[in-house]
Order: sequence, then C-alpha cells, then structure tokens
Amino acid sequence: MFNQIDLFTDALGLQNPWKVTDVSFDVNESRVDIRIARTKGSKVKCPVCGKECSVHDSKERTWRHLNFFQYKAFIHCKVSRCNCEEHEVKQVDVPWAREGSGFTLLFEAFAMTLVRNMPVNAVAKMIGIYSDRLWRIIDHYVEIAHTSVKFNDITSIGIDETSNKRGHDYITLFVDLDESKVIYATEGKGASTIASFKETFENQGGEISKIEHVSCDMSPAFISGISKNIPDAKVIYDKFHVIKRINEEVNKVRRAEVKENDNLKGTRFIWLKNPENLTNKQLEEIASLAKTNLKTLRAYNIKLSLQEFYKITDSVAAEAHLKKWFFWATHSRLQPMIDAAYFIKRHWEGVLNYTTTRITNGVLEGLV
Ligand SMILES: [Zn+2]
Repeated sequence: MFNQIDLFTDALGLQNPWKVTDVSFDVNESRVDIRIARTKGSKVKCPVCGKECSVHDSKERTWRHLNFFQYKAFIHCKVSRCNCEEHEVKQVDVPWAREGSGFTLLFEAFAMTLVRNMPVNAVAKMIGIYSDRLWRIIDHYVEIAHTSVKFNDITSIGIDETSNKRGHDYITLFVDLDESKVIYATEGKGASTIASFKETFENQGGEISKIEHVSCDMSPAFISGISKNIPDAKVIYDKFHVIKRINEEVNKVRRAEVKENDNLKGTRFIWLKNPENLTNKQLEEIASLAKTNLKTLRAYNIKLSLQEFYKITDSVAAEAHLKKWFFWATHSRLQPMIDAAYFIKRHWEGVLNYTTTRITNGVLEGLV
C-alpha cells in the first residue's frame, strides 16, 4: 500500500533524523502543508562546532517550497535550539533551507534560474511572492559571490542583462570571467549599472585600472558606460551576440524572399544552424534550394563566413578575413546583410579583440 508520508519524505530528499509526519491538502485554498519533524530521541548538533548538545527549546517555523502543480506548498517544522557549552543557544540547521530564509533551497534555486531569464517582477508574479522578497533572495546569492571573491585579483569581467525585454525591471549581471562567478548584480540596465558596479567594486578593494577585459553586447549604453567608468579596459563584443545579430539579418532576407518563393516556407530554422548540425534531409533541402539562386542562401553563406572569422587565431589573418567578409557583405545587394556589415564596421575593434583574447560571455549563459 502506498504511503503518502514516505513518498513525501523521499520527494523532499529527507534523511534520518528528519521525516515527514503529516501532509494535508486544502483544495479550496490550493495549498499543501507538509509537516517535518526529527525522530524522537535523535541528537541535536551545534551549527557552529557540530558537537552534540542538549535541546534548549523549539520554535515553530514555516518555509515556502516549490509548488506541487497548482498547489502552493509550505513546510512546517518545530526547529530545536541547542545549548552548546561553547556557543550557547543556537538554532540547529535544517537540510532544506538556509538560516534566516523563509524559502526552501529548491525554491530559491528555481527563483534564481528564472531571474536569469525574465524580469524580476515577472518572476515574482510567476512564483507568487512579492518582488521585494525575491530581491532579498537575489541579494543573498550575490552577497555570497561578493564575499567569496577577491576583487583585487579580477582582470576580466563579462556584463549581461536579462534577456527578456517585455518587462520594466531588468537585472544586469557582472561576472568574474576567470572564476565564472557573479560578482555584482543590480536592478536596471545600461550605463548607470556600470557606474554603480564601479562604486561597489572599489568599495570592496578592487582596482578598476586592473580590469583588462570587458565582454558585453553592443548596446550603446554599455559602450558609453564602459568608456566612462572602465576606460583602460579592452572591450570584446560577445561572439554570441554578434552571431545573433547576423542571424536576425539573415532572417530578414528570408522573410522578404518567402513571399515570392514558396520553396522557402518552413525553412526558418535551417538558416539558424551550421551545416554540420543539419540533418541529411535539411542538407538535401539546401542543395535543391541552391539551384534556384536564392538570396537567403547567399545571406546564409555570408553568415557562415563570419563564423569562420571566429575560428582564426592569428590576428593578422583574422583581420584580413574580416575585411574580405565586409567587402563581400557590402557587395551582396542584400540590404540586411549590408546593414550587418556596417554594424560590424562600427564595432570593428571590439569584434577583432576576440581573436587575441578568446573571451566570450558564454559562462554567463550557465550562471545564476
Ligand atoms: Zn558549539
């Protein structure tokens, strides 16, 4: 016979002496309340030194956990305070939450993952908490990053803002690219976030002049913020943002051409991929489209040639390639590709700087 108590104990990853003792669903309130207790007679340990000690008293506490479908989940537990000879009265640690938080670790991890991809207000709404509570979670994890990083050793940073542009509040992240750690996060976007980063960085003992490399996208606000606040750094425009921009231009060519050429219908995703990632069927499709002298195929080949630039490690050869590419793109008679070429031209140094530094914001994609 299935045992709901054991099931929830396992689902929460609880181990002896912790155990679920009660689960109750309230259908009207759409909530599930889970009670956890420690096994009777089990020893408590001081959270500072780990020594077993006597129980001083217990305090009822509640944590918000990940929803179970539409049910909001809450964990309740009477948490003991132990009486350590050396450290006096302290609340014992629980495995599902950090000290002082009203959320479980899983809930916080989920919230931090969402924050990376959506505006803070939208995340708060989605997970059903007030945005100031969400900001306290964000601040906590950024604070951890602060205390574990020596700011005076940092030489390469990456800057990125949350990708969702629909909401009104953004979060801009600053990452130590050598250590792959978030060192600063702030509300907002653009030039002012870089000024506030500089202030914090210097307050924590960092020297702005020691930052040699900054990787970011090509937004004018970042560019002006960097030249004002981190003037000595070499700027590298993030490769993924450059390619994304070119993909957008290729797509413009395709969208215009699809109106006059039915064969192009349903091919949008082909042009986003590299040939080595295409299926045989997709390759055949390109081969048959190639016979019809497609504009889209020309645009695609221009994109592939720009990707070739990113493989070249010799800086003289890389610049020669980029110049040839610029000539080709500007003579393609495809307006979106001409626009792309002039866009690269305006950001020439920062695109070329990749060749010698090999720096990208890639690490940011997997962070937070
Ligand atoms: Zn102790």
